[in-house]
Amino acid sequence: MTVGRLYTPWRMKYVTTTQVEVEGCIFCAKCNDQHERDRENFLVYRGQSVFAMLNIYPYNTGHLMILPYHHVATLAEMSVEMQVELITLTTYFTELLTELMQPDGFNIGINIGRAAGAGIDSHLHVHIVPRWSGDSNFMPVIGETRVLPEELNGTYDRIVKLLNERPPTADSGWPH
Ligand SMILES: [Zn+2]
Repeated sequence: MTVGRLYTPWRMKYVTTTQVEVEGCIFCAKCNDQHERDRENFLVYRGQSVFAMLNIYPYNTGHLMILPYHHVATLAEMSVEMQVELITLTTYFTELLTELMQPDGFNIGINIGRAAGAGIDSHLHVHIVPRWSGDSNFMPVIGETRVLPEELNGTYDRIVKLLNERPPTADSGWPH
């Protein structure tokens, strides 16, 4: 049993209706994988209806994604409760990355559809990309990684350590 499944009673219905699409989805595969494999999947946090993971092809160090467990392509397919958790955890992890890495700014966004640049357009995800002054010279326009793979493990461990020290509060907000 996976933790994701505990929170996703609606998934059974979904899986039976669109099995092929979900089976081919890397994000569904990550959140349905065993909790014990969260580190190798770079999955940093499991919320009620939303989870957080490192982008394994990061645009910059600390590039996180916040995603619903539910395989949906648009915000309109999410319940209001899911939308609230999506933005609340986006806020939380932006604050966490600020504390951890002191970036000068962030790019936060959702690419809806291939035409908008979504690499995986069938499973919605919010990008949180920390930015530092001067890094734009190195930042590719579209999705080419410039972060070494070995760096991901270190980044993962630093994020999870701070996450455990200052977990989301009852309302999932950053504990000020
Ligand atoms: Zn999916």
